[in-house]
Amino acid sequence: MAASVKVAVRVRPFNSRESNRDAKCVIQMQGKTTCIVNPKQPKDSAKNFTFDYSYWSHTAEDDLQFASQRQVYLDIGEEMLLHAFEGYNVCIFAYGQTGAGKSYTMMGKQEPGQQGIIPQMCEDLFKRTSENTDPDLSYSVEVSYMEIYCERVRDLLNPKSAGALRVREHPIMGPYVEDLSKLAVTSYSDITHLMDCGNKARTVAATNMNETSSRSHAVFTIIFTQRRRDQLTSLDTEKVSKVSLVDLAGSERADSSGAKGMRLKEGANINKSLTTLGKVISALAEMSSKKRKSEFIPYRDSVLTWLLKENLGGNSRTAMIAALSPADISYEETLSTLRYADRAK
Ligand code: ADP
Repeated sequence: MAASVKVAVRVRPFNSRESNRDAKCVIQMQGKTTCIVNPKQPKDSAKNFTFDYSYWSHTAEDDLQFASQRQVYLDIGEEMLLHAFEGYNVCIFAYGQTGAGKSYTMMGKQEPGQQGIIPQMCEDLFKRTSENTDPDLSYSVEVSYMEIYCERVRDLLNPKSAGALRVREHPIMGPYVEDLSKLAVTSYSDITHLMDCGNKARTVAATNMNETSSRSHAVFTIIFTQRRRDQLTSLDTEKVSKVSLVDLAGSERADSSGAKGMRLKEGANINKSLTTLGKVISALAEMSSKKRKSEFIPYRDSVLTWLLKENLGGNSRTAMIAALSPADISYEETLSTLRYADRAK
């Protein structure tokens, strides 16, 4: 079956810096349409984009248009979880400039109502599996959590592991990370504990290396196995789905600030993987709209797309959420995020 990509955009409230300098909001939303206006020529510069979802999280929660963390989960996370139960591989990723709301959308905060897609999806997964009454059906769940920085992979669930891990390819299973920890979990609290450890490891590693986590991609993977026992033969059949939940590196242009040395290399690597991801997604979207079977897809051009190969093409379902800053000062970056999201449709 052809792959299909769901695309959403989400605009956050002003942050304190933007509020303090009396920022103007350059985004409007109506239904599925997002409109951006160039603050330097507000007349005749409006550009409209249409997505599967345009989420307005800019004003207070009592605003009728306001999209809560729950709403975003119910539209995108739950749909993708149901695909995983059907046996598809699934990928959700968040794209956008640093500070636009990627981590908030994917991970969120601990407070009630503030949890992002990843914790809500994990909770929902265990809720659904615990409701199973079929004695021939059993489930197992494993998770891994890694970070890709400058094309190198780090294990966030085993931060003591020295250095980068090797990316290899299995002739049947496809690309994988050698020695990446895959931990079995049996409850939602097991997962939250691992997620917290992984997030902490990400911050500590970034601080030690004098970088920020906004320059790396974080990939949280759930390997979900459904095992069915045949009463007659007593044989088990397995359906394995890989669910990859990705908080991408900030998409801001690294070349604008006179970056040199390591910063320049970082920027080049980030641009390469985000550009490749964009190409992969639009090639898949194209294939699905033209119902074409094959088209060259450049998975191998970056570690990120290479590792997500099984989650993006073929037997998989993909969703992308592009996070937007509402402020006039971010106009150029926000327009480029909207264009990226538009190409993924
Ligand atoms: P990114 O991961 O893209 O760098 P963050 O998710 O860390 O950005 O968001 C930056 C700040 O904005 C955080 O303090 C976050 O809580 C807040 N924020 C982002 N999106 C929203 C939203 N939809 N509603 C409320 N606050 C948000």
